[in-house]
Parts: sequence; structure tokens; C-alpha cells
Amino acid sequence: MSEAFLPFSRPDINQDAIDEVVACLSSGWITTGPRVAQFTADLQAYLQCQHVLPLSSATAGLHLALLAMNLLPGDEVITTPLTFAATLNVIVLAGAKPVLVDIDSATRNMDPNLLEDAITDRTRVIMPVHFAGLPIDMDAIYEIANRHSLRVLEDAAHAIGTEYRGRKLGSFGDTQVFSFHPNKNMTTGEGGCVTTRDEKLAKTISLLRFHGMDREAWNRFGKTGSQDYEIIMPGFKYNMMDIQAALGIHQLKALDNFIERRTELANRYQEVLADWEEWELPIEPHYAHRHAWHLYVPLLQTDLVGMTRDVFMQRMKEKNIGTGLHYRAVHLYPYYREQFGFNPGDFPKAESVCERIVSLPLFPLMTDAEQDRVIDVMFSILR
Ligand SMILES: *Cc1c(COP(=O)(O)O)cnc(C)c1O
Repeated sequence: MSEAFLPFSRPDINQDAIDEVVACLSSGWITTGPRVAQFTADLQAYLQCQHVLPLSSATAGLHLALLAMNLLPGDEVITTPLTFAATLNVIVLAGAKPVLVDIDSATRNMDPNLLEDAITDRTRVIMPVHFAGLPIDMDAIYEIANRHSLRVLEDAAHAIGTEYRGRKLGSFGDTQVFSFHPNKNMTTGEGGCVTTRDEKLAKTISLLRFHGMDREAWNRFGKTGSQDYEIIMPGFKYNMMDIQAALGIHQLKALDNFIERRTELANRYQEVLADWEEWELPIEPHYAHRHAWHLYVPLLQTDLVGMTRDVFMQRMKEKNIGTGLHYRAVHLYPYYREQFGFNPGDFPKAESVCERIVSLPLFPLMTDAEQDRVIDVMFSILR
């Protein structure tokens, strides 16, 4: 009990990143400028993508990507009930209607086999989430999307560094959004980016992220730029700052090492917990992939242990171990129930997962000894 609180996640910020932030602060240019340009180029190289747009958050990226897809009132966007509320919120904010498809219990991703039944003549976009950093079966999703002429906006908030059949998410397909929130696999404090193969979409997002101006401030106030600008459309204030990019440049360099350490820790949980009937463990799919292990999320066998997931999380906390809840089924939040008529029982597989899921501590700085402590404490609570 005397041991310090172990959070379920904690960012790993190295000295190079701290020095870069300090250099940025001292440089006289702290908002969007040369460091965002550098970070953009680094992301283009890492993700093998020409059009990369850093923004103030992934939520901003999802919002702008949907707006740039020009949805009309009554248009439908299909997504999963096992996601963060932002995924559904932006659909509503873009003026469309969220339509949900239940998950595959094994991968916890939206079940491609159920997708086609949800498509109507108002469907415009499929918005899969690569849950926990495990890629959804992209061939299946894109085959259906292409057959119905639908766009695909991938919520890849969990999935920077994830690969599907040998290719990085962000390097192929329609449009993706990554998050750099501190709990995610790499961070810029707050931040995110859009990747796309659609040049016109990229141009629209580039306008919308900064007031709808055809020149960004860096050009306007720089030596070479002109003070002049035009407003092409009313835009938002969703640009990333250089202070954030200063962190991002060094986080991106460390990302593959982060994922390697996350993978080691996740594999260790998988090995140890394989013998515990109290847990149902994550299952990896048959197709070739690299899991980014953003989250390690087993399901507590609540009937067997005679304890709800919330009680389990509380007991862990009393023993100074933090856990996470990703997520409560999003369709059961009051707004979505009232506005769209969702009810308990609508998506039984997602609901069953959401009642039992727990995010165990997992972050690159976590030591083997800390993981042993997590396992020992779980043993004392459950066995
Ligand atoms: C974190 C997250 C977001 C939002 O990311 P922000 O960068 O915090 O805006 C969106 N979708 C999912 C699935 C997430 O986990």
C-alpha cells in the first residue's frame, strides 16, 4: 500500500523533446510555423503519405474531414458503438445521422459482416475505429465501400504505427485521423492529424483549420510572405502550434520503440493471464498486421468472479493501481438515446464487452516490476 500510484497510462517525454519545446519558446515563434512544417514532413515520411494535416486534436480532424465530405441533413455515417464519444459527436456536428453496427466479439472492431445490412440510400461515409490499435479488416471494409460508392473515414486515434497486411495505416485507403492526446501512443500535449489521398479534401481541411484563409499566418508575417489574405469560406481555429509540434517531432522518432515496449508488456499480460479463467483475453485476427497496442483490454468474467467491472476497478484503485474504461457503449449516453432512439440491447455484443472491459496499465515507461505489481494485486483481488 506504501507504493506510489501507478497510472494506467503516462507519456514518455525525453530530454530532446523538452529542449525542443524550450528552443521553440525562446525562438519568438510559438504558434503554427517552422516546427509544424518539420513535423508535417516527418509524418509524411513515417506514414508514407503525401497529404498530412496536423491539427489541434483528432476530434478537430474528424470534424473537418466530415465537413469536407459535404454531408447533407439526413445523410448517414456508419460507425461502431465501441468508441469514444467524439466519434459520434462529430457526425452530429457535421449535420449527419450516426448509424451503428455491432462489433465482432473477437477483434472488438465493427463487424464487416454486419455492415452491409446497415447501408441505406442515405449512407455516405463508413467510419471504422481501429480499436486499441488493432486494424480492422480493411479489405472487407473497402470492398463494401467501393461497391456502394461510399467514403471511408478511419478513426485511427488509437492506431499510429499500426500496420495492415504490411502497410501502415495512413499510407493507403481514403482518409484517416490520428490522435496525439497524452494517453495515445505518441503525444503533442493535445493534437492530431488527418491523412488522405484526396488532394481536394486536403485543401478544404487546410482552409477550414485556419479561419478559411488562403494563407496561413506563417506566410503572412514571415519575411517572404504577404500581409494579404482572402477568406474562401468561414473556417475554424483548429491549427497545431509549434510548441506542440516541438514535442511531436521527438515523439515520432521514439514511436517505434514505444510500440515495441507496449508489445512486450501486452504479450506478457497475454501469457500470464492465459491461465486465469477470470479473464477473456484479446484475440488477434487471421490477417497479417502490426498491433500498436494502444490499450491492453481483457474482459473480466464478471459472473464468475462475482464482482462488477466497476467494483474491480475500485479495488485496484484502493491498491494504488489505475485502470481505464474504454468505453461505455456510446449509444447508451442520454443524448444519443433521446436524439436517435438507441436502447439497451440494440448492439448486444458491444454492450457485453463494454460491461466487462478494463484497460490495464500499459505505457512504454512501465517497468517489469510495475507489471508484476499489477498482476500480484489482481491475484489478491480475484483469486
Ligand atoms: C482519443 C480519441 C479521439 C479523440 O482524440 P482527441 O485527439 O483527444 O481529440 C477520437 N476517437 C477515438 C476512438 C479516441 O480514442
